[in-house]
Amino acid sequence: MRIASWSWGGRYQVGTISADGREATPLALADASLGALPLIQMLARGEPLPGASGARLAVEAIELRAPLPKPLRTIFCVGRNYRAHAAELAESVFRTSLPAEDAWPIVFGKLAECVIGPHDPVRLPGAAVSTQIDYESELAVVIGRGGRDISRARAMDHVFGYTVVNDVSARDVQVRHQQWDLGKSFDTFCPMGPWITTADEMDGRSTRVRGWVNGELRQDGHTRDMIFDLPTLIETCSRGITLHPGDVIATGTPSGVGMGFKPPKWLGPGDVVKIEIDGIGAIENRFE
Ligand code: MG
Repeated sequence: MRIASWSWGGRYQVGTISADGREATPLALADASLGALPLIQMLARGEPLPGASGARLAVEAIELRAPLPKPLRTIFCVGRNYRAHAAELAESVFRTSLPAEDAWPIVFGKLAECVIGPHDPVRLPGAAVSTQIDYESELAVVIGRGGRDISRARAMDHVFGYTVVNDVSARDVQVRHQQWDLGKSFDTFCPMGPWITTADEMDGRSTRVRGWVNGELRQDGHTRDMIFDLPTLIETCSRGITLHPGDVIATGTPSGVGMGFKPPKWLGPGDVVKIEIDGIGAIENRFE
């Protein structure tokens, strides 16, 4: 099942998207302003999927929003989770050499307020704030059933589904403050969508992640190449912290980000970044 959030006819709706990605069916939900969040909470409580509340719409006729336009709280983000990406940034953002096999994942937060839709513009913050804006194509895990101290062995039982995010990053700000949260959380810096594909339809542990800038393929990775796999990430993020239905974990980006080029290829006004993950779909955002 694909769960999407959209606006149509001046109001918000949440519903399902057909397998071919062309038709949207709204579901009977009291409040669609928070996107799929109330639906995920309902399903986590064991309630049934609500019925359709209207006729099918052409996806072309609706305006897709982020499936979780206002996540419950800060998004969990994982840094340095593909070896080739760790290598390309080893001398800058990460500052240390490649992780030892027994190292722990890097986890930081991205403010929930920076989420935007799959086709919304990303606002560049201006040269006084940052001159090193970069993209990161990422698979995001959406938590279904909540829990604390979730074991690796049970972790996949807590996955509701998957969506695509661009973990947009201001590299100079990231480095300057040592903690990454500021440079990752500028307004509009988390494009998300186009919808959530539920875990019964795909396995996020084995899918292809690609990113293009102005049509040029820059990132082409596979989630099986993660340093810390999805169960490990869920176990890590839930150690001593209760995960809730609708929580989001962005799982890190493959190699090919702008900072990895010599010289680096920063994003500027007019650039368009497209990210596609097999089994989900694509988001495409213009930088302004
Ligand atoms: Mg990232």
